Amino acid sequence: MKKLVKQLVDLQKIDSKFDALQLQKGDLPFMIEEAESELESKSTRKKEMEETIKKGDADRRMFQMEIEAGNEKLKKYEEQLYKVQTNKEYDAISLEIDTKKMEIKELENKILQSLEEEEELKVQIRELQKDIKKLEEQLVDHRRELDEIVQQTRTEERRLTRERDKILAELDKRYQSQYEKIRKAKDGLAVVAVKKNSCGGCYSAIPPQKIVEIREMHRLFTCEYCGRILVWLDENP
Ligand SMILES: [Zn+2]
Repeated sequence: MKKLVKQLVDLQKIDSKFDALQLQKGDLPFMIEEAESELESKSTRKKEMEETIKKGDADRRMFQMEIEAGNEKLKKYEEQLYKVQTNKEYDAISLEIDTKKMEIKELENKILQSLEEEEELKVQIRELQKDIKKLEEQLVDHRRELDEIVQQTRTEERRLTRERDKILAELDKRYQSQYEKIRKAKDGLAVVAVKKNSCGGCYSAIPPQKIVEIREMHRLFTCEYCGRILVWLDENP
């Protein structure tokens, strides 16, 4: 029975290592994918903002030209004003002047507004650039880490498989299927040590008499709450 307990404990150790390897690998590809899509969306947003700035610049140049043309027109109206003969003519030209001045004012406001927008965009672009740099660094790290893990796990997995096969060759099939069933139902943990007089899987208290029996290892015990196989390990007081 002591041998059986040891076999089950070793099997659990190997399988937990397998799980840990899978978990490491399983997490990184997801993180890489996340970082890639975030990087893409931030880069796109940055590009769009840069386009908006370019367009704003072109707009402002156009507004400026319209203002200059407007000022030329104003000058002409004001010259005409000196030469008018009638009140009616005077009123008509005055009206043209007022309208032109209003148009120019509006164009100047548009330029100011566009400059403000550009400032805001530049702040946002700087923030995006910081995020982009951070994401790119993260990606380099994650990719390197995944490469390393893939390399390591290949060797480690082969070693664990050999060890596992060796145990299974000697382990009674009944116990193997019991072990597999519990492992599947209990989140990968079928064999647990007694810790602080409790089940190491669900932390339920174990009666002292049962602990004595578990220590004696005359037969296999399971936790009456979670069903996991309970073992006594000397390194765990
Ligand atoms: Zn339990």
